[in-house]
Amino acid sequence: MTVETTVPDTLHTLSPSRAGDFKTCPQLFKFRAVDRIPEPVSIHQARGTTAHLALQRLFDDPIEARTPDRLFDLFREAWTEIRATEEFRGLFPTVEDERLWGVESLELLANYFTIEDPTRFDPTERELEMVEDLDGMLIRGILDRMDRDDTGRLVITDYKTGKAPPETYALPAFFALKIYALLIRNRTGQTPAEVRLLYLNGPTLYRLGIDDRQLDAMDSQLRALWAAIDRALATGRFPPRPGRLCDWCSYRKICPAWTTSPD
Ligand code: SF4
Repeated sequence: MTVETTVPDTLHTLSPSRAGDFKTCPQLFKFRAVDRIPEPVSIHQARGTTAHLALQRLFDDPIEARTPDRLFDLFREAWTEIRATEEFRGLFPTVEDERLWGVESLELLANYFTIEDPTRFDPTERELEMVEDLDGMLIRGILDRMDRDDTGRLVITDYKTGKAPPETYALPAFFALKIYALLIRNRTGQTPAEVRLLYLNGPTLYRLGIDDRQLDAMDSQLRALWAAIDRALATGRFPPRPGRLCDWCSYRKICPAWTTSPD
């Protein structure tokens, strides 16, 4: 889940997701955070939003009730709420399309129990809204989940319903989570021991150990990004950076990288 960045002519706040956008492709950042061009919702987003809500609510139940059937029910209940919202209304052309999507979604959710056992722990935080001032940089976002491991150290987990990348490409996916770890250190004074990407589609769990040196480096990286975004806002220069992401980018049809012919 993301929080939109408010950007007039200088940067006021930044979310980990939008910071990742700028790092990947400044033009993508411009479309999303500056021009605020809405993206069409997809069945994948619908699945992600609904699964996040179901997984969040699973931990409202007592430990013994956190079963696969209960998670499936929570998914159905969450979808009943979400499908009625303006954003997702009429997403499926036919009832059969929606039914098949539901079946696939429950199969993915069943994978969750092969990665971890929700009856063995209680999260410290879920859907934690964060706004932290890092010496002049206001960073905001929503963290999926935080737990304490057996030795009491903090562990941050992010749920993913998309397909897990191969391990060699997984490191960039930790970018936003390292920012959240930085925010947690700023808020609590404790350095999280680990960040985890939990991919239901795989299923795969990627884990990355965290220490202060990494978070100091992330702070410097974020500061450089913030300055680069400020420069881009001042000059209006948001160069497109074409790459593999373009194949999934909602803005491809209007992106200068694909619509402007070379001189
Ligand atoms: S189509 Fe590619 S280059 Fe253009 S905004 Fe999207 S990611 Fe960036």
